[in-house]
Amino acid sequence: MSGESATPLMQQYREIKGRHRDALLFFRMGDFYEMFYDDAETASRVLGLTLTSRNNGGAADVPLAGVPAKAINEYLRRLVGAGFRVAVCDQVEDPKAAKGIVRREVVETLTPGAVFADDLLDGARNNFLCAVQESERAFGIAAVDLSTGEFRLLVCAPGDAEAMLARLAPGEVVTPKDQPLRLALGERVLVTPREPWEFDAAIAGEELARHFAVASLEGLGIGAPDAIAVGAAGALVRYLRELQPAGLPHLARPIVERPGRVMPLDEMTRRNLELVESLRGGEREGTLLEVLDRTMTPMGARQMRAWILAPLTERIAIDARLDAVAALVRDPLARAALRTALDGVRDVERLAGKTAAQRATPRELGALGASLSRLPAVEEAARRRDGAGVLGEMLGSWDACADLAAEIGRTLTDRPPAMLGDDETIRAGVDRELDDLRALQRGGKEGIARIQHAERERTGITSLKVGFNKVFGYFIEVTNANRDLVPADYQRRQTLTGAERYVTPELKEYEEKVLTASERIETRERTLFEALRARVGAAIARLQHAAGQVAMLDVLASLAEVAERERYVRPELTEGFTLEIAAGRHPVVERMMAREKFIPNDVTLTDDARMIILTGPNMAGKSTILRQIGLIALMAQMGSFVPAARARVGIADRVFTRVGASDNLVRGQSTFMVEMSETSAILHTATARSLVLLDEIGRGTSTYDGVSIAWAVSEHLHDVIGCKTVFATHYHELTQLADELVAVRNYNVAVREAGDEVLFLHQLRPGGADRSYGIEVGRLAGLPPSVLVRAREMLRLLEGGHLVPAVVAHVPASDAGQLALFANAPDPVVERLRSTDAERMTPVEALQLLDALAREARERR
Ligand code: ADP
Repeated sequence: MSGESATPLMQQYREIKGRHRDALLFFRMGDFYEMFYDDAETASRVLGLTLTSRNNGGAADVPLAGVPAKAINEYLRRLVGAGFRVAVCDQVEDPKAAKGIVRREVVETLTPGAVFADDLLDGARNNFLCAVQESERAFGIAAVDLSTGEFRLLVCAPGDAEAMLARLAPGEVVTPKDQPLRLALGERVLVTPREPWEFDAAIAGEELARHFAVASLEGLGIGAPDAIAVGAAGALVRYLRELQPAGLPHLARPIVERPGRVMPLDEMTRRNLELVESLRGGEREGTLLEVLDRTMTPMGARQMRAWILAPLTERIAIDARLDAVAALVRDPLARAALRTALDGVRDVERLAGKTAAQRATPRELGALGASLSRLPAVEEAARRRDGAGVLGEMLGSWDACADLAAEIGRTLTDRPPAMLGDDETIRAGVDRELDDLRALQRGGKEGIARIQHAERERTGITSLKVGFNKVFGYFIEVTNANRDLVPADYQRRQTLTGAERYVTPELKEYEEKVLTASERIETRERTLFEALRARVGAAIARLQHAAGQVAMLDVLASLAEVAERERYVRPELTEGFTLEIAAGRHPVVERMMAREKFIPNDVTLTDDARMIILTGPNMAGKSTILRQIGLIALMAQMGSFVPAARARVGIADRVFTRVGASDNLVRGQSTFMVEMSETSAILHTATARSLVLLDEIGRGTSTYDGVSIAWAVSEHLHDVIGCKTVFATHYHELTQLADELVAVRNYNVAVREAGDEVLFLHQLRPGGADRSYGIEVGRLAGLPPSVLVRAREMLRLLEGGHLVPAVVAHVPASDAGQLALFANAPDPVVERLRSTDAERMTPVEALQLLDALAREARERR
């Protein structure tokens, strides 16, 4: 279809769409937003809308889909959530006033990284938009959360970039076009390439300095080493300006993070330790976050999540947090008062952001005021523990924004409406004009009585009445008997049988006032409200600061609360190597059982005994111990108390956790390949100060391969890297490492045998596990007795000769007959076994398979 044949409307559409090719264009038409062509098809698919068509001035039909303007937020939420970019094109003049076609403009573009409306967002987590850029030696990240105004600059080693980004979990990443991102981001992350020159640090530096009104970036604590991140920030800000043509939202002063202060946590460690998302399904349930987060406010919840994902690596900073937590643990009354005061503080950070962007509704501004008015109580409770660590630092710069709270409280009604005009927004007594208008609207009757009285006096007609009807509006009614007394300025409007009706200029003027009162009230309220919102919004930096105070207090109080309820202790942080945990527990697993049912364990890793090989049967508790070591170290470094009787934590620069065969198959990659690339990443990044936790390396391949790889990896960690390592494995062969390497110790998780039965003690003790208990576990899972008997027979047989059943060649010739099961390759039974992944089966499935195999084997005899 050619452009000439299109209607003027479609020409306008094309012209605008031409400038927003990469976005779905929501084109406002009356009460609807319409989408055309491919956009219509995409939207109908993603949103389940009906696809129709519009006849475009005789030419071919144009595919069309629309959504009601009223419900736009819901549709935007879904599209942005699905990773789309949406440009919202509004009518920017009154259709009634328009000559020809209504003017339309794109008023904002929403992207997964750039969403304002907090109803589109999850309150408990930040929504970051990141820009990144890389040089040979450094990786720079600029991150903005538009809903809160939080602004971060991060610089890290290129190798840590993925971990740093994973922590921020951005919805969108902006990159220079000529530097394709080589990092694995989540599937839903939108990547937006931009012109390389936009990442220029010098231009960006000037722009940032101007934006924050400082002479140079040093005033913001930004130095030369941060240039790479400053460049990214420049590109980010430019991009935001494009998305929000009406003006850049307020950004808080940037927080600068340099390498070495915060521990980068890679994706596998975050997932395997289930810090904020569970391995299964990614929910919050069953995670460390769920245990630690007893915050009362959305800011607190976001901060808690951020702290968990960014453990510190500087002792002084960690101790400052621990001091504050300890103070609040010691004073339950102060803590209770603090938590009570925090309860009811709404999302000050996001409300302030909306206020500054002039988007807050009366109800939201009211909520901001009400929240601020709680801050004095928060401060009072916090002051009871003045001076302890970060608590003292914070109280030193405390600002409750009392003036703002007072002004909002004084100006707005107690329950302002969600929409201006729905109910009263501005309090009586605030504005004379508004009060008069309201009196007029309410007091219609009084006014009429007053006029009636005055006219009676003037004319001497005692029966004169002022009335109202829909056709003529207000009128003065005089009976025929008094017609002579009617003054000259009365204008006749209507004749009735016994009376005449008149109007006067004064009456008309009054009528006008009454009838337009509601309209004028709304206008006046809007003026007053917008002025208040602008004044409060201008104080955004103070409001963000206040929100930061609340968030920190909330997190500290929550950590203290959990410490007491769960009987945690304050860890001792040291610059040394040793990690020593006495009676440590797994913070999540222990809560799944009755109190005191969880068996605590001691673990010590020192320079002389830095590698633990942990053996023991399945289900003994190896993974639990492994993870609990990692969790305790991370909790300590985020400033939390820990589940142990005592803990001394030599600060780790990194914690790595690799856990065998998880759900990687779902992602379509070979498990073994994933396992090896994860292991390789650890070997490349770990240092002597790292804590490495390995669960079953080499499991995804044949036994000989697996043992060999596990052996070599252990040697490398022990000899070359020299880090603290705990290696849980079912390969008994690895216990021999202790004979070869000086700093390796064997431990096993104890089980007790009673006859043929096995009792899991979940107790760590020195020494390697002496044998496999797989058959016992099979028994517990309900394998039929005949199968168990046969399995024990096989085991004795194999142990008599060789450990590895798959290698038939090693079975002594005399037993070969009995091993027909394995001998006639390719045997379908063997084939099936080969393709079986026992790890991924339920006991019932395992049982069914075994039963089928056993039957098939019997038939074969
Ligand atoms: P493994 O890794 O050795 O196969 P897990 O660590 O998965 O074993 O533990 C298996 C189960 O044993 C856990 O789900 C938990 O219920 C229980 N368990 C583990 N450690 C303990 C402990 N210290 N105290 C009590 N129960 C435990």
